[in-house]
Order: sequence, then structure tokens, then C-alpha cells
Amino acid sequence: MTHLREVREGRPLSADIACQLLRCDDELLPELLATARALKEQYRPGVVTYSRKVFIPLTNLCRDYCGYCTYRRDPGEAGAHTMMPDEVLSVAQAGEKLGCTEALFSLGDRPEALFPEMRETLRKLGYRSALHYLQAMCELVLRETRLLPHANPGLLSANWIERLRESNPSLGLMLESTSTNLEAAHPVDRTPDKLPALRLRTIEDAGRLGVPFTTGILIGIGETMEDRVESLLAIKRLHERYGHVQEVIVQNFRVKPPIPMAAWPEPDTGDMLRTLAVARLLLRDMNLQAPPNLTEKGYEKLLDGGINDWGGVSPLTPDYINPEAPWPHLLDLQRRTEAAGQKLKQRLPVYPEFIASVAARGGMLGERLQAAADADGYVKAA
Ligand code: SF4
Repeated sequence: MTHLREVREGRPLSADIACQLLRCDDELLPELLATARALKEQYRPGVVTYSRKVFIPLTNLCRDYCGYCTYRRDPGEAGAHTMMPDEVLSVAQAGEKLGCTEALFSLGDRPEALFPEMRETLRKLGYRSALHYLQAMCELVLRETRLLPHANPGLLSANWIERLRESNPSLGLMLESTSTNLEAAHPVDRTPDKLPALRLRTIEDAGRLGVPFTTGILIGIGETMEDRVESLLAIKRLHERYGHVQEVIVQNFRVKPPIPMAAWPEPDTGDMLRTLAVARLLLRDMNLQAPPNLTEKGYEKLLDGGINDWGGVSPLTPDYINPEAPWPHLLDLQRRTEAAGQKLKQRLPVYPEFIASVAARGGMLGERLQAAADADGYVKAA
């Protein structure tokens, strides 16, 4: 295909052709994947990274009701839980013993705005909001362990990004989609934090403040191919302006029995591969990640889509967002990555190219980061 040859020669991919490629037939797929892999090799030759992490679900109370979510709970519902400081520390310390370097903090959006029970829990703990509590727990982990926090607390104001960057070398928020027409996934009036304009503003504020940022798209939630391309381009535009998007995740929707979207079709591996490859062609020299635990058979196939990162993988804690999907064992991840001709390298929750700017912030975070990173910005051998 002429367009793919032109992309290999350095020409940018137009949105129209990107949409055509997302819908391409099986005959064209091998050339699309070969082009994506070639661009990945130009950008990160021979290496695929992952971050060894513990997952800290600080609270699963959330004021939103996304149609695909199995993480969130209302107060009093079975499984509703807010972690206490000693639980947070004990998970982080256990992860430290297993060589983890990332403490991924996950929590629902502003639960105290909807639930008096959460306000009461926070009052007893001595905090005004879930974000104040998160900040204290990130500082606790940074102070007491060698793990580096990476928080995904939902929408953040510029002020909160500034506060959290004192203890987090990077922050994250999935864009998911720029579409405002995803009624099953984002029911109107029940998902106030899923407005794309607000999410793009958080990503932009992080850029203005120089905070390395993880974001991405969620595919198969009712968006069109045009929406997927626009979502990727929106991320790319912000990165071109601020240079701060450290990685772009392409995550596939998975059915879970209790969710409102339980009868929704899942994207198949072919759809995932086309989306990854088109993302690589559009984003070119940006880190592209796909989670290995959301592809049931032969997750190593995702490497064909031109990814260079597996994201956070935990030897200790489950994926609380997708509890039905266990992480691969790290030895299995290594074996399959190497069988595909790639070297698996452990990275920190901040990518090597951003480490110098974060370390320059100084303080405890700067010290911890310099102690954790080797000369190339990967995890220093123990
Ligand atoms: S996906 Fe996030 S914002 Fe949506 S309901 Fe679940 S926890 Fe809340």
C-alpha cells in the first residue's frame, strides 16, 4: 500500500488513512503490522519495558458510575473498602521485598463529594478529601520505602498536580475517548468526571507544569474508528505542545459479569492489533503500551502492533481494575518477550528520558529517583 510505504519513509499519516487502516482487511494487516514494528524498532530498537509494581487501591468508592467498571463501590456494598495507612505501608513494603519500584495508587473520583460515609472516614483519618489522603499516603510510601508513587486519582486541578508532583515522579489519567456520545460507558449525569474536555484539561495542565504523564485510550466502549483516531491525535497534539506524555496506553474493554455492559461485545485481538499499529503510525516516537493480562491467548502477539512497553506488572497484587485477568508471571513475560526477539527491561514509573528533569526537582523525590535509576534511566540492579 502506497500510504504505508510513505509512512515508512517518514511522511505523517492522515486521519482519513488512519481510519481506513483501522478497518483494513486481513490481507493488508501483515504490511500494517510490519510497518508498526519497523517504526517501533527505529524508536526503541530491541527493547520492551515494564514497570514492576504494587497496586494500591486506596479507595474503591467513586462518585461516577461508568458502564464498564467493576472497581467502583458504594459505601456498604460488598467489597467496598478504603485502605488504612498501615495497609498501604504493608503492601508497599511487601512489594519492595519483591523488587517492585512503583506504587500505583488508584482511587475513585471524589467519593467524598457524594458519600457522607467517605467524608466521615476521611475526617477520622484527619483529611479533608480523598486527594489530601492520597497525598499523605504517597508521601508515606516515598519516605518509608524505595518505591516511587504513581497516582491515578481521576481529574486533577493544576493546584493538585503541583501538590502531587512533590511525591510522584509521574501521574496518570486515561483520556479513554474524546467522544461525548458513549451512553453505555459514560451515562449522562452519572459520570461527571468523564467529560473529555475536562480530562484533556488535566493532561494539558500536567504539561504546563512539566509533569511526565501517562494516558491512553479505552477501545470497544461504543466509540467509532474516527473517535479512536481523534483521541490519539488529541493526545499527540498535547505532547507536541508540552513534551510531557511519557506513554500512551491502548486498553481493550473486557466484559465482567457484574457490570452494566456485561452483554457488550469485546474488541478481538485483530481489532486490538490494528489499533496498536495505527497508534504507532500516528504517534511514531512516543512510548506505546498495551497490558499483557487483557489478551487471553498469546499476549505476545501484541508486540506485532509496535508496542514498546507492557505497563505495570505486579508479582504481588492483582489488577483491581480487571480482577478476572491475572498478570503474567514475570518469567513468562520475559520468556515471551525474548522469543519475539526483544530484551525485557524493568523501568521506573517514570520513563528514562524524563528522569533528569524530575530529579532536578530535588528534595526526597529527587534523591529517591537518583538512587533507583541506573546510568541509562532504567532500574538499577540490586
Ligand atoms: S472507571 Fe473510574 S471513574 Fe468510572 S466508575 Fe470506575 S472508578 Fe469511577
